[in-house]
Amino acid sequence: MTCTKPPAPNLAARLRSLTDLIDESGLCTTTGANPDHWFPDVEPAGNATTQRRFYEQAAAARCFGCPTLNECLEVTLAEEGSLLLEHGYEPHGIRAGLAPWMRLHLLVASGSAGTDAEEAA
Ligand code: SF4
Repeated sequence: MTCTKPPAPNLAARLRSLTDLIDESGLCTTTGANPDHWFPDVEPAGNATTQRRFYEQAAAARCFGCPTLNECLEVTLAEEGSLLLEHGYEPHGIRAGLAPWMRLHLLVASGSAGTDAEEAA
């Protein structure tokens, strides 16, 4: 009996495909959407709990009903996880209905972020 291993998934191609889908159908990429709405000028500093909760609710509302929410989350975590590890990038703005610190927590929980990010989360 011959056992063949399935080909390794081509992550780059998958992310490109998901990004194309987001570009076609994401709420923030549709004609007339204002990208600034996903990147508020002021993000809460430190652990200002009330401001953070307000921001989190705004983030959820901003992406509510987006047909590519799941795809966006996958692409976002892949991109931001990679940037965090390689360049110390810190998430900012609203993506996948989540505030930056919420995505950072997910990245840390998934092991996609380094120890510096773990301390910041
Ligand atoms: S989930 Fe939000 S950030 Fe992601 S594509 Fe949809 S509207 Fe844009």
